[in-house]
Amino acid sequence: MRNHPSPWSRLRGLEPLSLCDWPGRVCAVLFLGGCDLRCPTCHNFHLAWNSEDDPRISRDHVLNFLDQRAPWLDGLVVTGGEPALSTDLPEWLAELRNRFGLPVKLDTNGMHPDIVERILDNQAADLVAVDVKGPWSKYPALTGNKISAREAKATLGRIFKLAEGHPKHFLFRTTLVPLLTPEDLRETRSFPPSGFLLQTQPFRQPSRPFQGHHHKEQSC
Ligand code: SF4
Repeated sequence: MRNHPSPWSRLRGLEPLSLCDWPGRVCAVLFLGGCDLRCPTCHNFHLAWNSEDDPRISRDHVLNFLDQRAPWLDGLVVTGGEPALSTDLPEWLAELRNRFGLPVKLDTNGMHPDIVERILDNQAADLVAVDVKGPWSKYPALTGNKISAREAKATLGRIFKLAEGHPKHFLFRTTLVPLLTPEDLRETRSFPPSGFLLQTQPFRQPSRPFQGHHHKEQSC
């Protein structure tokens, strides 16, 4: 896997207050630019594919913000883009989690099980929200031909194994993009391990270029 820069250098957005990125919690959200997939329905394609065009948010700004705001928050959400492109993501999350004493939720496209495994080993996140984009056969179309059906099945299979060992730390979700049929959805619901319900979220038209405060694929 290509080693993307550290999360600090990929930071392109800070949402100071969100009530829906982690339902039931009042959160701040950090957005990391860059993604290895090219989903044609990507909601934040500018953040995912062209984030170098946008100014970086400084480490000092984020740390100062969290120093002041953490006592009023119930959680910190890290999303993208795809955060797990950074191989040092586990250490970065652990540092934030320990420094501010906030529960951490990570959003991921599920294509980086090695990173997710290290996050669990480091107790660096309390919840990992994983995209299950659709039936394996539609993964090439759903990801801009970045992932084959076989790769998707094998890679998410590793994530599902991790979830079986850490059932409280995962949720799985599918965005109802136009390409998915009811039959596709039925098939996709059968993928997560027993005990997990596949959550669905509505498809929203891709947004204008990222402004630093928009959500990727909202869960509410
Ligand atoms: S939808 Fe998610 S996984 Fe797909 S390109 Fe956009 S950020 Fe990446």
